[in-house]
Amino acid sequence: MLKRISLGLLLAIVLLLAAVVLRTLATPSQQLAVAPAPRPDIDLQAAARRLSTAITFRTVSSLEDPAASLAEFDKLHVYLERQFPKVHATLKKEVVGQKALLYTWPGTDPNAPPIALMAHQDVVPIAPGTEAVWTVDPFAGEIRDGFVWGRGTLDNKSNLFAQMESVELLIGSGFKPKQTVYLVMGDDEEVSGLRGARPIAELLKSRNVRLDLVLDEGLLVLDGVLPGLSRPAALIGVAEKGYGTFFLSLDTAPGDSSMPPQHSAIGSMSAALARLEAHPMPGGIQGVAGQMFGALAPEMSGINRVMLSNLWLTEPLVRGQLEKSPSSNAMLRTTAALTIVRAGNKDNVLPGRAEAAVNFRILPGDTLASVEAHLRRQLANDDIKIKQYPGNSEPSPVSPTDSAGYRAIRQAVRQSFPDAVVAPGLMTAATDSRHFALVSDAVFRFSPFRVKGEDLARFHGTSERLAIANYGEMIGFYRQLLSNANAAPAQ
Ligand SMILES: [Zn+2]
Repeated sequence: MLKRISLGLLLAIVLLLAAVVLRTLATPSQQLAVAPAPRPDIDLQAAARRLSTAITFRTVSSLEDPAASLAEFDKLHVYLERQFPKVHATLKKEVVGQKALLYTWPGTDPNAPPIALMAHQDVVPIAPGTEAVWTVDPFAGEIRDGFVWGRGTLDNKSNLFAQMESVELLIGSGFKPKQTVYLVMGDDEEVSGLRGARPIAELLKSRNVRLDLVLDEGLLVLDGVLPGLSRPAALIGVAEKGYGTFFLSLDTAPGDSSMPPQHSAIGSMSAALARLEAHPMPGGIQGVAGQMFGALAPEMSGINRVMLSNLWLTEPLVRGQLEKSPSSNAMLRTTAALTIVRAGNKDNVLPGRAEAAVNFRILPGDTLASVEAHLRRQLANDDIKIKQYPGNSEPSPVSPTDSAGYRAIRQAVRQSFPDAVVAPGLMTAATDSRHFALVSDAVFRFSPFRVKGEDLARFHGTSERLAIANYGEMIGFYRQLLSNANAAPAQ
C-alpha cells in the first residue's frame, strides 16, 4: 500500500517536472529580429557640446513661482534656434502658456495619423547642501571622461536635444515625414505639467488632432539590473501609476494627561495607521507586470527562467520574492506610504487632534475611489475624517502593445540597441505624457538611456551624467523611429 502511494507520488513529481521543463523550453522569445541600424552620420563631439551648453541654462521649474527662471527658458529657446537652423526653417514653432514649445513638422500624407515626441525643458533644483557632493558644478555643462555632466543630462535635456539632432539630421538628408510629427516640450514637467504639457494637449484636441503614437521620457535600458538577465532590458512604459494622497484627522476632547482616557487621539490614530500598513492592497504578477515578465522570461537563464516561465505553479513563490524589494513590489500593487503624522505639543496635555497623510501610488485597474474604500476599511475607525488632496490623479490607461505605435518603438529600439531585449513595463513615477491620454490611446514612456543599478540615483540626484557614446545611440534611436514610421513596420 505504502509502496503504491510513493510510486504514485514519484510519478506525479516526474510529470510535474516534465511540465515545468517543457513549459520553460516551449515559451518562445518575443524579440523582433531586425538588423542593427547604421550609426547616425553626425559629429558626435559637436552634438555633445551642444547638449553641454544647454545644461548651463538653469531652467529650474517651481510650483509656487511660475515666473521663476523665465529668462533662462528664453536663453534656451534662442540657443535652440541658433543650433538647429533646419528644424526652425522647416517646422512651425508655437510657444504655449509661458515657455512650453510645440513644433509641427507637416507630413506629406494628410491622411496618415500624426505622432508626437515629447521631452521637457525644465529641471529639478539641486538639493541644498549637496552641491559639494557633485563631481562637477551641476550647471557648468562640463564634458569629462566621455560624459556630459550636469543637471538635465538625463532628466531631460538629452531627450530633447537628441530629438532635435535627429530631426535636423533627417531634414539635412532630404527626409520628409509621411505623417505630421509634433515635438512637445513642456516647461513645468517637474511640478505637474499643468502649465505646459496639459495646455498643449488641449490645444491639439481643439484642433481635432488624434495621435497614433506619443513617446515621452520614461523607463530605461537597464544593464545588469534584472536578476537572471545577462543582456540589457529596454523597458517601454505602457502605463503610469496614479497618485493619491489622503489627509486623515481624528478629533477628541483635549485633556489633562493625569487622567487619560482608555484611547487617546494619538493611540487611536496610530492603531488605525498600523492596521493600514499591515494590510497592503492586493497585488500579483498580472497586468503590466505579467506582460513584462512574460516578455523577459524566455530571455533569461537558469532558475529565473524556469520560475518565470511557470508562474502557473510558482506565482506565490516569485511574488513573495518580488514583494521583498520596494522597487519590484511597486510594480505588483497599489502601494501605501505613511508620509505625515502630527499630534501634540506639550508633554502633559492630551492633544484634541491627531493628523496623518497617506500617499498611495495607484496601479492601473485600481482607482482613487477603490483606494479610498480600502483606506476606510483598514482604518476601521469612523471617527477618522478622510480628505483627498486636490492634486490626486487616476492611473493612466494601459496602452496596447499590439498597436502600430508600440511596434514602431520596439523596432527602433532593437535597431539602435541590438544587444537589448525589449519588454513592456510600468512607470511608477509621473510624466508629462499622462496629459496626452486626451488625444491618444497609444502613449508610451521610454528614455533611451543605458543605465546600471548605481546610475539610478543620478536622476534628480547628484552627479547626473550621460555617456557621449549613449548620446549617439539616442540620436540614432529617434532618427530610426521617425524614419521607420515612413516605412511599413516589421511585425
Ligand atoms: Zn523628467
